[in-house]
Amino acid sequence: MAGEPQDDCLFCKIVAGQVPATIVRETDTTVAFRDINPQAPTHVLVIPKAHHKDAAALAAAAPELAADVLRETQAVADEDKLDSYRIVFNTGSGAGQTVWHAHAHVLGGRGLEWPPG
Ligand code: AMP
Ligand code: ZN
Repeated sequence: MAGEPQDDCLFCKIVAGQVPATIVRETDTTVAFRDINPQAPTHVLVIPKAHHKDAAALAAAAPELAADVLRETQAVADEDKLDSYRIVFNTGSGAGQTVWHAHAHVLGGRGLEWPPG
């Protein structure tokens, strides 16, 4: 069922505390933790605690929760004192999505090229 924890989901395991992560912020509905393979000085993943497979599924099933995730991206940027940052939601394997639990990448702390690769 949408939103229920999935046994085979890495990020559900991080939410449950079964897999360690460097957590930088937590709210009632979201967790933010440092990416294990950072692509920038700040590379934090913001996830909803509830399982949704990608950003669009999250927005369709739980729009308030999608807004919570977006609000947290700004809070992460504030914590790392970033004036500018990029939010990325890789969606689909062709775009590089490897974990099928919605997550926003917050990237900053270096120059960010546009368009992205
Ligand atoms: P994506 O490729 O958009 O699905 O993003 C998944 C991200 O999760 C990648 O940037 C990985 O480096 C990151 N990742 C994978 N395992 C972990 C972990 N145990 N802790 C933190 N980040 C992770
Ligand atoms: Zn999950």
